[in-house]
Amino acid sequence: MDTSFLINEFAEERALYFNAVAPPIMQTSNFVFKTVEEMRSAFKDEYSTYLYSRGLNPTVDMLRKKLAALDGAEDCLVFNSGAAAIFAAVLANVKCGDHVVSVNQPYAWAQKTFDVVLARFNITTTYVDGTDIANFEKAITTNTTIIYLESPNSWEYALQDLGAVAQLAKKHNIVTICDNSYCTAIYQKPISLGIDLVVQSATKYIGGHSDTVAGVLSGSSEMIASIFNSEYLNIGSGIQPFNAWLLLRGLRTLPARLDRISATTSTVIKFLKSNPSVEKVIYPFDETFGQYELAKKQMKGAGGLLTFVIKAGSAQQIDNFCNSLQHILMAVSWGGYESLIIPKVAGMDPGAFNGNVAEHRMVRLYVGLEEANYIIEDLRQAFAKMEGKNFS
Ligand SMILES: *Cc1c(COP(=O)(O)O)cnc(C)c1O
Repeated sequence: MDTSFLINEFAEERALYFNAVAPPIMQTSNFVFKTVEEMRSAFKDEYSTYLYSRGLNPTVDMLRKKLAALDGAEDCLVFNSGAAAIFAAVLANVKCGDHVVSVNQPYAWAQKTFDVVLARFNITTTYVDGTDIANFEKAITTNTTIIYLESPNSWEYALQDLGAVAQLAKKHNIVTICDNSYCTAIYQKPISLGIDLVVQSATKYIGGHSDTVAGVLSGSSEMIASIFNSEYLNIGSGIQPFNAWLLLRGLRTLPARLDRISATTSTVIKFLKSNPSVEKVIYPFDETFGQYELAKKQMKGAGGLLTFVIKAGSAQQIDNFCNSLQHILMAVSWGGYESLIIPKVAGMDPGAFNGNVAEHRMVRLYVGLEEANYIIEDLRQAFAKMEGKNFS
């Protein structure tokens, strides 16, 4: 189906709500039954009836239908955070004594799920460099039940060949889960490459305005129904109707925002690469990127998240650069209207800084919806201050 149709029309039943263009927010916790028989059948199968909004809710359902269709999936669930979607997807596919293979440095709370929560149930995790398919093959054991992917991942944007990993996993009867937050369904469709479950933080591009925390989990009807009936209802972390409505609103402009952000990002990257204080830019759609060919093969775009390595001899210099920015905000997250920055040194004890380690000099930049020049001029004046030049 056409993306514009999915975003503008699909799953909207305007005749049911006075032909209003915008959908209503069905802000209700529970739903009424006329007969005991109706109630009895709802108790038997909560996944096909409106009973209680920890389960199904009409505003959330409209969003689910659109998101599943965008992902090319049979079904999806929407959670109150990306972390909750990841947790449910993982929990649904392990039991005591199982083994997980994960890419190195997945999203921090995915890693905590493996290292802290699953570890308590004697479930072990092997982390692999996901840029080489052979590493997955070597790590698989007879009790491996999940291969966990994130392509690209954050900071260095390492990719996995999703089609190849999916094929390998199917041969061993292993469930594949892929975090697709970086691309969204607009730029990458892991389900079409054979991945079983796709998770994303809707807090980022889908919400798009830095005002909602939410997560999406897509997959086959069978897997999603099973997760609904246990993890989703049990964790009780389904998205609330108002937040679902905000995501429906965010979806209207998702492709337009991504196009604009991608175009601005190329312009900002040109500036960064020409700046003498920048050693390197890391971005999957840049020709210098190590996995550029694979990025072009499995992604349609790369959006606004990139990393650059500053030439700096001290953490203080990087602090100075970031503290000097006038418009680009210093904050976690990304995908909203506003450009954001995080230096690696913010997560380090300044005493641990080693200028010889490029990673210590990394700065993650998210390019928002501002004019390219507005962002570039802000970066330019901050570099000048860092270099100790007078700037007028
Ligand atoms: C933000 C993020 C998450 C977690 O999503 P929340 O909505 O913050 O819970 C998961 N994966 C990636 C790659 C993220 O950037």
